[in-house]
This record gives sequence, structure tokens and C-alpha cells, in this order.
Amino acid sequence: KAKSGGRNTFFFYNANMQVLADQHLSMEKALHSAIDNNELYLNYQPQVNQTHHITGAEVLVRWKNPEHGFVPPDQFIPLAEETGKILSIGAWILHEACSQLAQWEKAKLCPKGFRLAINISPKQFEQTDFISQLINVISSTNVNPYHLELELTEGILVKNLDALTTKMDAIRQMGIALSIDDFGTGYSSLKYLKKMPISQLKIDKSFIADLLTDTNDQAITGTIIAMAHHMQMEIIAEGVEDIPTVEKLTSMGCTHFQGYYFSRPVSAEDCTLLLQQEILPAKA
Ligand code: C2E
Ligand code: MG
Ligand code: MG
Ligand code: MG
Repeated sequence: KAKSGGRNTFFFYNANMQVLADQHLSMEKALHSAIDNNELYLNYQPQVNQTHHITGAEVLVRWKNPEHGFVPPDQFIPLAEETGKILSIGAWILHEACSQLAQWEKAKLCPKGFRLAINISPKQFEQTDFISQLINVISSTNVNPYHLELELTEGILVKNLDALTTKMDAIRQMGIALSIDDFGTGYSSLKYLKKMPISQLKIDKSFIADLLTDTNDQAITGTIIAMAHHMQMEIIAEGVEDIPTVEKLTSMGCTHFQGYYFSRPVSAEDCTLLLQQEILPAKA
């Protein structure tokens, strides 16, 4: 069976593709009831400064399903975006993360300036009632909004600039920080960036992986760091896996780090232990 997918394009469906389509559908179905079946949970990955003190943590969602096993977020978040399921999943993550933050606050485990960073997908951010969702979750969990940070991707920086700026201003007014995730991989206009009330740029891990040897990655990373400094934004590198990379980044002026060298993403319980310890990597 052949189907036209536009001019000069033909897709030939074969058995393999049918299997993929079936898998997609069955995963979509499973994802639909993932919240109700308690299949979602959160991991936390610490972020540190140049003295390796914990300054924050990123919330990373996990999905374990009886049929599909462990499905990485790179797979199911795009699927959830596609189906709109991201709205209820995103709301669940927001509430769960703030409940955990409230516990850490109560236990006095949040150092000065601590921020819990939550990934927000474009569809979620674009909801007209997103601000009131934030207000509600903050008041119901009783967390300090100055302990919160939202990670947005460059994808949201390309449309409806005025509405976007208004929304971002409102969020900043509440005390919540805004960070641009995977910076350098998207297609945001630098002209837009400077008008936005953005607190931090997060250098994508694809520029960090080969930083020690790849001069292009060094040039890109150096440029992002310089730009952040000029625009008075904070800077964090993600995907930092070894100490020479930490040292290289430090010499380039990078102030914050996140990556396997310091800690993998861990359960809330394990993150509690790391917060008690304050400095990473953990002693054996
Ligand atoms: P991201 O927000 O850029 O998250 C960073 C990813 O890098 C995470 O993958 C993390 O586990 C991984 N990582 C951390 N340190 C290192 C390192 O040293 N080396 C390497 N190679 N990787 C490292 P993860 O957890 O698989 O998440 C992948 C993506 O899925 C995230 O990328 C984000 O785009 C999305 N995602 C995860 N959790 C959420 C969520 O709660 N909400 C939304 N909307 N998206 C999420
Ligand atoms: Mg931070
Ligand atoms: Mg992120
Ligand atoms: Mg990232």
C-alpha cells in the first residue's frame, strides 16, 4: 500500500512500520492512564556552584509501565505533547515537585538561593491559565516561590512576543526564576532573548560532551557564557561528566554545573541525603 505524503513523496508501509505504529498507539494508551496507575515518579538531579555546593536541583520525570517497561522522557514527553496529555502530566509534575520542595523547606534543607528547576513544555506554558495554576500549586503546597525555577525551551521564544513577555514578567513578579534549557540547540532570536526577563541560560550537554577536544564546542560555549554575563543572566552547564570538564568550564567563566560527575538524577529520598551533605560528589 502506498500513500502520497506530498509532492514526490511516497511512503511504502511495510510490516515493520505497522509494528511501530501499533507500538505507538499502545504506548499512547498506556500513557493515558499512567497518572491514575501511579506509574509516574520524579527524580532530582543536583546543581552545584564552583565550590561544588548544591545550589539547586532539576526535576526529571520517570515512567515505568508494566507492558512497556521503563520509557525514557525523551520518548514519552514528545508523545504526551502530541496528544495533549502533557497538560495533566505537567500539572501532576508541578504539584508533586512542589510537595517535595515543601518537605525540604520544612526540614531546612534548602541552602540560601536554592532553586528547584521544573521543565515546562511549550504546550503547558502556553495554557491561558498557566499563571493561575502556578499560584494555586504554590498556595496549596505552601512553598516559597523564590525556591522555584521554570526551565523553558527556545521553542517558546519564537511566537507571540508580547503575550510571552507579559506572562514571563508575571512569573518573575511572583519570585519564580526562568531558565532557557538546551540553549544553543533551538532557533531563538537573540533579539528576542534580550527583551525577555530570563534569569539563566543552560548550556546544552551536546556542547559539553566533547568540550575538552572540540574547538567548535569551545567557541560556542565561550560565546554563550560571555553573552549570559553581558545580559546579566546566570549560566549553568549540563551534562558535566568529569573534573577536567568542570575545570575547563570554570576557566571559561561558567559558574554552575549539573551532570553525572556531581550526581546522577536520584530519588527524592537520595536527594534528601545529598542535600544534607551539601557538597558533591558524594563521599563513598
Ligand atoms: P533536559 O531537561 O535537558 O534534562 C537533562 C537530561 O540530561 C536528563 O535526561 C538528564 O538525566 C541528562 N543528564 C544529566 N546529567 C547528564 C550527564 O552528565 N551526561 C549525560 N549524558 N546526560 C545527563 P532525561 O532525564 O532522560 O530527560 C530527557 C529530557 O526529557 C529532558 O531534557 C527534558 O527535555 C525532558 N523531560 C524530563 N523530565 C521532564 C519533565 O518533568 N517535564 C518535561 N516537560 N520534560 C521533561
Ligand atoms: Mg539554578
Ligand atoms: Mg531541563
Ligand atoms: Mg537540557
